[in-house]
Amino acid sequence: MRLVLSEEQIRDGVADLSRQITGDYRGRPLTVLGALTGSLVFLSDLIRQLDFRLQVGLIRARSYRGRSILPGALTIQDAEMPEIAGRDVLLLDDIFDTGRTLAGLVETLRELRPASLKTAVLLLKQGRSEVPMVPDYYCFEIPDVFVVGYGLDYNDEYRHLPHVAALDKDEL
Ligand code: 5GP
Ligand code: MG
Repeated sequence: MRLVLSEEQIRDGVADLSRQITGDYRGRPLTVLGALTGSLVFLSDLIRQLDFRLQVGLIRARSYRGRSILPGALTIQDAEMPEIAGRDVLLLDDIFDTGRTLAGLVETLRELRPASLKTAVLLLKQGRSEVPMVPDYYCFEIPDVFVVGYGLDYNDEYRHLPHVAALDKDEL
């Protein structure tokens, strides 16, 4: 494994993001929704730095199994979340790769009529997007490598690593 982001770099990146979010919402009550399972570590670190009224929820995306996975062909499988109608909502995920997960979740959440809906990811992979959206916030851009740690998994392992590391092909 090769180190991509150290624990300290991540801490600084998440702190910067929390300051940006705090400035942008100016104390307006916010609902932060974490996409399971990859966003768990990011979510727990970020929300502890947001010192204003906040509701927290979790959602799980599920792809439709079909001939092809179309952008937006995604639904919410489970939701442990408060009512979001009329609320400012910030959706968190671990990584924006093709963007299909986030774009699909945004499409579904919009149907619940939040007052506003923004997205934040820890990592943005360069040159991979297949959707006409970009996350409103991201902490780090990374090259097109497969990474694990800080919530990101390979077969549900490595999520607990405090840093982000790249797994080489022979390790996959
Ligand atoms: P997207 O829908 O943007 O293509 O992919 C988003 C999801 O794919 C992420 O939530 C994550 O679960 C997974 N994913 C994409 N790239 C990586 C990666 O480099 N490492 C890991 N562990 N998961 C990834
Ligand atoms: Mg994921």
